[in-house]
Formats: sequence, C-alpha cells, structure tokens
Amino acid sequence: MTKFLPLSRYFLFSVAMASVTLASHPASADTVTVYSARNEQLLKPLLDRYSKETGTEIKLLTANEGALLARLNAEATGTPADVLITVDAGNLWQAAQQGLLQPINSSILNQNIPAHLRDPGNQWFGLSVRARTIVYSKAQIQAKDLSTYEDLADPKWKGKLCLRTSKKVYNQSLIAMMITEQGEAKTEAMVKGWIANLATDVFPDDTALLKAIAAGQCQVGIVNTYYLGRLLDKDANFPVGLFWANQNTSGTHVNVSGAGITRHAKNKAGAQKLIEFLSSDSAQLFYTDQDLEFPANPKVKPDSLIKSWGAFKPNLINVSKAGELQTTATRLMDRAGYR
Ligand code: FE
Repeated sequence: MTKFLPLSRYFLFSVAMASVTLASHPASADTVTVYSARNEQLLKPLLDRYSKETGTEIKLLTANEGALLARLNAEATGTPADVLITVDAGNLWQAAQQGLLQPINSSILNQNIPAHLRDPGNQWFGLSVRARTIVYSKAQIQAKDLSTYEDLADPKWKGKLCLRTSKKVYNQSLIAMMITEQGEAKTEAMVKGWIANLATDVFPDDTALLKAIAAGQCQVGIVNTYYLGRLLDKDANFPVGLFWANQNTSGTHVNVSGAGITRHAKNKAGAQKLIEFLSSDSAQLFYTDQDLEFPANPKVKPDSLIKSWGAFKPNLINVSKAGELQTTATRLMDRAGYR
C-alpha cells in the first residue's frame, strides 16, 4: 500500500504514465525494468542500443519523479522496477531517504563517476552534470559586469534580476549547496538581496525566464545551461549570454541526473550492468549531449554547442548535500520572501 497516495489516485497516476516500451527483439531471460523521470526521447535510443548489444530486454516506464517515487512506495516489494533514473540530486537523495534504493558496489562506477557526483553511501550515481549559472542580456550587460551568485544580491542589480520559482528543486538544490558552503545567515542575506532586486514575479520555468531576458524584461538571471542551449539550437542569435558564476571562488553550482538500483530489484546484477553501461565512455556522450548536459564521466568530453561556452570550474561539494539540506533551503527561501 502506498504511503503517499490513496489507491485510487495511485491508479490514476498509472494510467497517466507513458506506456511501457518493449525492446523489439525476442524475449530473453535477462530483463531489466527501468523507471525513469528522464525525457524518453533522450533515453530510449541508448536503451535500445544496450538491448541490441547485450540481448537484455529493457522495459521502460517514464513519468515525473514524484509519480515514480509514489509508485515505488506503493508497489513496495512487488515492484517490477530494477533501476530508477531521475534528475536532480535532491530527488535521488529523496529516493534513498525513502528506502527505495540500495547500495551499489561497483568498481566500474566508482572509477567512472567522480566522488562528488555520487551518493557517499553509493545508493545513486550521477550520470550527467547540469550546471546552474548566470545568464545575461547581451544587449544590456557585458560579461565583465558579472561575477558571482552572491553579487546578484548587490543593489546595483535592483529591478534587473529574474528568478525561477523557489518551488523548483533546482533552486532548492542551489540554495542548499550555498548553505553548505557559507552557512545559513550569509545565504539568507543573499536571497533577500535577490528578492529585493527582482524585476518581476518569479517564473515557472527556466525557458520563460530566458525569454524574459531576451525581451528586455530583465537583464540577469540564473538557469540550467541546457535550457539556453535548446533556445540557441533553434536560434543561434538568441540574445542571451552565459556566464560561469563563481569562477574565482567556489565554482559554478552543478547538479546531476542519475540512477540507482531499487531496493526490491528482481534483477540486481542486470540493473548494475545497465547503470555501468550508462556511465561508460561509449554511452556518456549520447546520454548527455542530446540534452546539452555535461558528461559525468570526466574522460568524456562534451560535444556540440556546449563546448563553445568554454571550460568552467564546477563546485566540488558533494551533490548529496542538495538533498540533505533541502528542507533547510526551502525554509530559508520562505523566510527570505522567495516564492
Ligand atoms: Fe530541467
């Protein structure tokens, strides 16, 4: 029985989910079932390739992370899921916290994925890196005017800053990481400064924020870089620039999408092999490049337009802090008036 949803709502969720996709080869003894919050178009070709190469049948179920965690809780020991894939360390941490994952003992994953991009207890591993950094209006601002997230709290940005809602886990993770680094008091003062500088109400998503900068509604903001990448893909002249924040201090905030083996996996060995494959040189470029993210495996260099943004220094605090301090971050943002 679900801990989170009455059964009827749980079934509604099931119906709303994307259909299970079966690989197109004959059924094999080796089947791995994947619950994924990652865009199906980004993942499916890679899973198909894995099926072809290994003969392993992959069953893929795609839904948003909240629905997947609720489903895993509801299914409990009876879950067909072997692997959980989701975005943001905050969500992966939640899954581990709810007892939905189990530790993975893999020398391959330990080798491929840097320590700061995985759970210290090995319950999940980052597979792609997403950077959340400063973007600016090329028409109104020069890169030399920018420096850090903290600087965006300076009164010189009054009426010029745009932010996405604090309800989004990406911002909760960003603030959690800043609390880890500099404590609550300093972080809260910064957030209050941001709110005092807002040009307009917070945005529901990063794309709307970027378009507001392009339209001149605000001059600076904070987004995940792949959202800018998508807009630049459509229009190379999209008038918003990317600035790597905090390069002379702690580095730009990074987060992950990642995977873990479910607590009640029926095919634990198969699940581990699949996650190892996703961390490998040959899979990483496809896994990350299609969505304009950065490979988590440092041996793999990003391709495409993200190279044009140049190399950057990432913050090396373990991304699990995003989960650990999520509640603290949410409360802090609330106190600071960040809606
Ligand atoms: Fe996103």
